[in-house]
Amino acid sequence: MGRIRILPDQVANKIAAGEVVERPASVVKELLENSLDAGAKEVRVEVESGGRRLIRVADDGCGMLRDDALLAFERHATSKLRDVKDLLSIATLGFRGEALPSIASVSRLLLETRSAEETTGTSIEIAGGKMLRCEEAALGGGTSITVRDLFYNVPARRKFLRTEQTELAHIASLVTHYSLAHPDKTFHLTSGAVELLRVTPVGTMKERVYQVFGSRVLEELVEIGVREKEILLAPAPVAPAEAIAEYRREPDDPPTRLFRLSGFFSRPQVQKGNRNSIYVFVNGRLIRDRLILHALSSAYHNLMPPAAYPFALLFLECDAEEVDVNVHPSKTEVRFRHGSLVHDFVRDTLRERLMESRPAPAFSPRATVHAAPAEQPAARLPYSEFSQMLENEAPVGETLAASGAALPEFTLHPAAGPAPRLDFSAPPLEVTPGPAPSGKLMRSLAAHDPHGEFPPEAVPAPEMSLSALSDLRPLGQIHESFIVAAGRDGLWIVDQHVAHERILFEQVMKQRAAGRVEMQRLLMPLVVQLTAGQQIDYARIAGELHASGFETEPFGNRTIAIKAAPAAVSAPDLEKILFEILEIAEGELRGASLDDLRRNICASIACRAAIKINVRLDAAKMEWLLRALANTDCPMSCPHGRPIAMHYSTREILKAFHRI
Ligand code: ADP
Ligand code: MG
Repeated sequence: MGRIRILPDQVANKIAAGEVVERPASVVKELLENSLDAGAKEVRVEVESGGRRLIRVADDGCGMLRDDALLAFERHATSKLRDVKDLLSIATLGFRGEALPSIASVSRLLLETRSAEETTGTSIEIAGGKMLRCEEAALGGGTSITVRDLFYNVPARRKFLRTEQTELAHIASLVTHYSLAHPDKTFHLTSGAVELLRVTPVGTMKERVYQVFGSRVLEELVEIGVREKEILLAPAPVAPAEAIAEYRREPDDPPTRLFRLSGFFSRPQVQKGNRNSIYVFVNGRLIRDRLILHALSSAYHNLMPPAAYPFALLFLECDAEEVDVNVHPSKTEVRFRHGSLVHDFVRDTLRERLMESRPAPAFSPRATVHAAPAEQPAARLPYSEFSQMLENEAPVGETLAASGAALPEFTLHPAAGPAPRLDFSAPPLEVTPGPAPSGKLMRSLAAHDPHGEFPPEAVPAPEMSLSALSDLRPLGQIHESFIVAAGRDGLWIVDQHVAHERILFEQVMKQRAAGRVEMQRLLMPLVVQLTAGQQIDYARIAGELHASGFETEPFGNRTIAIKAAPAAVSAPDLEKILFEILEIAEGELRGASLDDLRRNICASIACRAAIKINVRLDAAKMEWLLRALANTDCPMSCPHGRPIAMHYSTREILKAFHRI
């Protein structure tokens, strides 16, 4: 007798549960997705003990007919797919028909549902995959699924659950982000008696972001708007997933595809230590995807230090055929048919938007995304399931620091590039007012203010754009390193070295793109000795070096002669800069794109050629620097990602002096 057996469904379901149900948040995710697929306008999620004791998801969606309700717990039972062709164009969040039987096999589950087509509802109880009860019940429309004692029959899984607080944070993060993706729906999340999230339908994504995170976070974000691009496809389409290989695509495919990106992302000065604040939705599905994460970090290249991450909420939409969602049982990964097109579209769109918005860092402790007073409790919980699964990074340390209490630091950032550094051990500059007097006291103070009242029309709305730099009046320098300037709206402090670095960087990049880098012939060629490793890197990037303004040629064994160099670089710096570029090349060649390498070469040239700190500048030079900076595409941070200018708005000055 043969030894191979087909596993009974109950065993198969438990195996599937191992992949689909990783933790309480995965149950919430599957149930929430089912509710959204059912066309719900309102979804209520209740949990107890971080979801271990109870998870209930109730919706006002289409409900299930009695027969369907029974069928839903069969393996591979779904109403969302009919045949293999449908796999190519999945428009629903679910399609595998695995979630309900998997969840039911590892918990005690109660389903209560009624479809509008039936007069009575259905109530089904299942424990550990065994049907206990199925009966008619008087129920309102929609579906409610209650999952108790998750993993009660899988002790090994139960042991791996983290603390209740951690599991709750995962759930909160998940519900919050689904609520962001669906601003037209009501979401409600409670943990025991505590309400963590309650949002009602609004017309725009922006209003939903405001509902969830509050006004302070919204101020730190750049809205993408809706950016579309029609992309011309290469003639030979990539084969879809193997499972559907037999299905042949029609030859008369349209040769173009429409991609649409919307959402929000943070200004470069909002810097996070990990990826926990990055959320990516593809066709309404929350996913983790290296390709899009890479596109996002490339967009911030030269604007943010490499170890920092932004806050981002990205919604990518495309033709369902362009994205294979059937990659992983938990449906949190996708595969794009034209990955590099998608990558470049996301990177370029974000980069353009960043350039357009030209935001300036403000001189207030606002540049943190957490702890806005108006945000919902759920938005304050620091974990995020998806990014943690991507990389086992430590959870966010910067949790709920009271925003009002933080002092803006006036110390220099640690060197991200090779710029000379100041040792600035003076204490941080205090710009936050002490605890503000209560409103009543404030009004009575204003009424008797012997210093006079500030006319309200003189208080401009907070001006965040560095376009304002063009009419700044330089007042002088601090430590011969920072230009202090007065503008239409308050006070500015500009780091002279990084400002000049940004100006030169863009100049070199533009010359490079036009193929006209200004070069300077050396009187005597400079002979440079290379190591074996450097020699290899040199050979690989010789063309790129030449295009960036270096005329070099091999000069015997492991030696090269530099005959001409970019005009901006002075001769004594030449050797250093060449070694620096070779070092960049060594790192970059391991994976980064040519585009990044090119930018880094230009950044190196700019950094070496820029005015140093501790250099006295006369008024004309300062004025020139500010004008030239205002004319750059991206005046907010240097090519290594450090901030260039700090802004202390009139409003903040007035607040600090208790005049408003
Ligand atoms: P899938 O979502 O992949 O189809 P599930 O196991 O999650 O598989 O659900 C099985 C089926 O049960 C769904 O296809 C759907 O028809 C039905 N269903 C599940 N949840 C709901 C709900 N909240 N409202 C209406 N129908 C639902
Ligand atoms: Mg489902």
